[in-house]
Amino acid sequence: MTVTKSDTKELKNYINGQWVASSGSDTLEVPNPATGELLARVPISNKKDLDGAVKAANTAFQSWKNVPVPKRARVMYKFHYLLTENHEELARLIVQENGKAYKEAYGEIQRGIECVEFAAGAPTHLMGETLSNIAEEIDSEMFRYPLGVVGGITPFNFPMMVPLWMFPLAIVCGNTFVLKPSERTPILANRLGELLTEAGIPDGVFNIVHGAHDVVNGLLEHPDIKAISFVGSQPVAKYVYEQAAKEGKRVQALSGAKNHHVVMPDADMEKAVQNIISSTFGSAGQRCMACSAVVVVGDNDPFVDALRKKADELTIGNGMDEEVLLTPIIREAHRQKVLGYIEKGVDEGADLIRDGRREMADMKDGNFLGPTIFDHVTPDMTIAKEEIFAPVLSLLRAEDLDGGLEYLRKSRFGNGATLYTKDAAAVRKFREEADAGMLGINIGVPATMAFFPFSGWKDSFYGDLHVNGKDGINFYTRKKMITSRFEY
Ligand code: NAD
Repeated sequence: MTVTKSDTKELKNYINGQWVASSGSDTLEVPNPATGELLARVPISNKKDLDGAVKAANTAFQSWKNVPVPKRARVMYKFHYLLTENHEELARLIVQENGKAYKEAYGEIQRGIECVEFAAGAPTHLMGETLSNIAEEIDSEMFRYPLGVVGGITPFNFPMMVPLWMFPLAIVCGNTFVLKPSERTPILANRLGELLTEAGIPDGVFNIVHGAHDVVNGLLEHPDIKAISFVGSQPVAKYVYEQAAKEGKRVQALSGAKNHHVVMPDADMEKAVQNIISSTFGSAGQRCMACSAVVVVGDNDPFVDALRKKADELTIGNGMDEEVLLTPIIREAHRQKVLGYIEKGVDEGADLIRDGRREMADMKDGNFLGPTIFDHVTPDMTIAKEEIFAPVLSLLRAEDLDGGLEYLRKSRFGNGATLYTKDAAAVRKFREEADAGMLGINIGVPATMAFFPFSGWKDSFYGDLHVNGKDGINFYTRKKMITSRFEY
């Protein structure tokens, strides 16, 4: 098989095993957020491009669904090998287009590889269930079948991990896939397309259509798309969930977050500070599991001072520099929105104890913002309620753990939450009462691994089945029951 290469400057769509230009002429620039250097142009494709991809995927589905499961899994073994071989190159691509630090990007590739490892276990995951003698001479069996063509819509902040939550598992279950990557980080997606082709995926099983709203709406409306996996911001997640459900599609929509970290007076303060700093300011706060609100329990000003001091010591800059922890915000437009939140925080009466705007003047090439910390934030303030998705932290004060849990309950989001303590009783209470889907105990970023579901609550998730783990298998398959009678 000849493996075609994607053009790295003028990005193309990947449809039916070919790299093809969009039939329209709209493009968007893809700059490096740290330097402003133009990396590529991404096509803003139209519905005609999408229709071509869905048609190819639908045709491919007719044969792919019948490919023996171990053979499908073998493509994932090869893909896994290629991702591992190219780990460093892939990490560098992420640093360039997303801006995050190399170490973070390297870790993200690893999380993606783990999703492929999980998908490669398809022969075990796809086993059905049987029970003989459910009635006299009657047996029951359950088999799993794929759905058809699945659409995936992904955000900018994890260009590797989030698409890999979706397509390896969907494909290995026998579905075919159309990916609409973030228009802000489209380069890595094409590299994944190249590697999957090299791994031997048949034409049309995996397709990429770059673009924005039109492609998303096209996926939501297309009658041949049977399921939608979405990850992105809250308003778009809700829209995608509602539209796809209205069209009768299966849908999982992972959404925004406001993750609270509760610091108890007995916690190891040095470790809590270290964890909170890297959770809040790593990837410039642009992680769905980033800490964005800390609940300081008790009268603990020394902890607040230590946090501010550590923030002062952070190195800010280009993610390719090994020393750097705080990297740029994805786009200038988003930085402007964040500056609006900082002004709002001040106007609404929060104490700005560290103003990250002061670092902006020295770093004009990229969309940088220094670590920003507000103290004495109350839950009614805008900065406490909304996802800012930037290196901006709110400190709330509480008398006890109940006060901290009350802040979690008041938040409309429920993606993650962490408790810092040595007290087992506090841990148990937190586990039972915290109103969020992924909890951490003395952990800065309590993201689950590929064999467990990745799961938010409340407005952080719309749907029933989460991504990864058994939920992922259930999402990408439908069940058929056979009840049979044979007399002997
Ligand atoms: P985004 O919502 O702007 O974009 C996500 C996808 O939706 C992109 O592919 C984009 O092209 C598309 N899109 C954007 N606006 C649209 C519209 N109006 N109509 C149709 N499609 C539209 O999100 P983002 O800024 O790329 O990513 C950051 C967000 O994703 C944050 O809110 C973060 O919390 C969330 N996120 C959540 C998780 C999770 O597991 N819950 C994981 C990663 C990111």
